[in-house]
Amino acid sequence: GRGAAMVTAVAVRLEAQRREVAKVLAPLRLKHDDLVEVQALMRQEMELGLGQETHANASVRMLPTYVCHTPDGTEQGEFLALDLGGTNFRVLVVQVTEEGIRMASEIYVIPTAIMQGTGEALFDHIIDCIVDFQMKQDLMTHTLPLGFTFSFPCQQVGLDKALLLTWTKGFSASGCVGQDVVQLLREAAERKHHAGLKVVALVNDTVGTMMSCGYEDPKCEIGLIVGTGTNACYMEEMRNVGTVEGDEGRMCINMEWGAFGDNGCLDHIFTSFDRVVDEQTINPGKQRFEKLISGMYLGEIVRHILLAMSDKELLFHGNPSPKLFTKDIFKTKFLSTIELDGLALRQIRQILQDLELDASYEDSVLMREVCHTVSMRAAQLCAAGLAAVVEKMRENRGLDRLSVTVGVDGTLYKLHPHFSHCLQRTLRDLAPNCTVKFMPSEDGSGKGAALVAAVACRTTGPGQ
Ligand code: BGC
Ligand code: MG
Repeated sequence: GRGAAMVTAVAVRLEAQRREVAKVLAPLRLKHDDLVEVQALMRQEMELGLGQETHANASVRMLPTYVCHTPDGTEQGEFLALDLGGTNFRVLVVQVTEEGIRMASEIYVIPTAIMQGTGEALFDHIIDCIVDFQMKQDLMTHTLPLGFTFSFPCQQVGLDKALLLTWTKGFSASGCVGQDVVQLLREAAERKHHAGLKVVALVNDTVGTMMSCGYEDPKCEIGLIVGTGTNACYMEEMRNVGTVEGDEGRMCINMEWGAFGDNGCLDHIFTSFDRVVDEQTINPGKQRFEKLISGMYLGEIVRHILLAMSDKELLFHGNPSPKLFTKDIFKTKFLSTIELDGLALRQIRQILQDLELDASYEDSVLMREVCHTVSMRAAQLCAAGLAAVVEKMRENRGLDRLSVTVGVDGTLYKLHPHFSHCLQRTLRDLAPNCTVKFMPSEDGSGKGAALVAAVACRTTGPGQ
């Protein structure tokens, strides 16, 4: 009868919709072979970055850090540490003793106007925060050695001299690129008549994370960040580092893998959504791998997919709210929440209502699928990058099996309900001869900077 005909009509319409949805999401679903290829490309770019003749034009820069040892547990001393580069700026005092590490810290906000203003204003602000911290901690009269975690690509000339290559994430403060960051900090201290600063080391956050986890686990020879941005570092054989004199021992290499693909080698995996997201950033064409993976961009990818689906009337009856057209309205935290298992779809609808989206039950189900597709792709790509790293380390050491620990930090890794699981599963699949343990770091980058100040070898070669 008519009832049955209507049911059939609805079923046919739903089936057509499913096909349309699958078509939109298909380019984001990577197959095993795609990931194997990304892994091979990363490996190739790593070699280019390390080579003396090739590194100048490499997209994965493979920067020497002058950190040659992970901690052995005998380090001691009291240090000041700074951590700049993610969502917040932190100042810490770190005591490394035989019994372990103690620390106290304060978080300071860096307003967007300062992130994107002048370099002088940025470093003046940093000094103000340090002074505030020293007053609170009653440290005004001490001159403690300072370790600076600075989470941007730097051409390191020594442990305490680092030229900023480019800003990433939301930063663009003027007058800093090409300058020695440690010097910029010292000059600000002079402007502010702060005499008691003794900067002894500048490290990337990946390095700080590796070092702080290395203090607990000697097998920790890789650092990974998946937060606002993404990057990794690992211990490489000096003989393979064509950009630094000497063949003995190892040195930690800051890969700067966020820039993987900036030379076009990943163009075939970028989707139309990735291209729009990239075009609307303050650094178009740059950090293309990072823009597929890290917290600063995933919400934007999701937002553009939702707009496209709404355009095809697959969502919101074809009527998205004006809010959905607002850049960065979708926070990563939101992605993490929406994918929580067992979160009632009613709760998802509540979140969507905050975005002024009139979402039906079916809309909520579809949104969850979109978020899941985007975050799983991110985890898989991250795994492909890591697979290249662990396989290289295994080959370097001539081992049939490598057992290694990754120190890891970042909001996406830590807060997302499925990211770390998917990352580990994919990594096992891509690097079956490596046993990789993940160790989430606690306050890693700050603690790590203090440890670097305490242990790193002081190679003082000219570097490049
Ligand atoms: C920076 C890296 C940093 C990473 C994670 C990237 O944008 O270039 O230096 O390690 O973000 O914070
Ligand atoms: Mg950080």
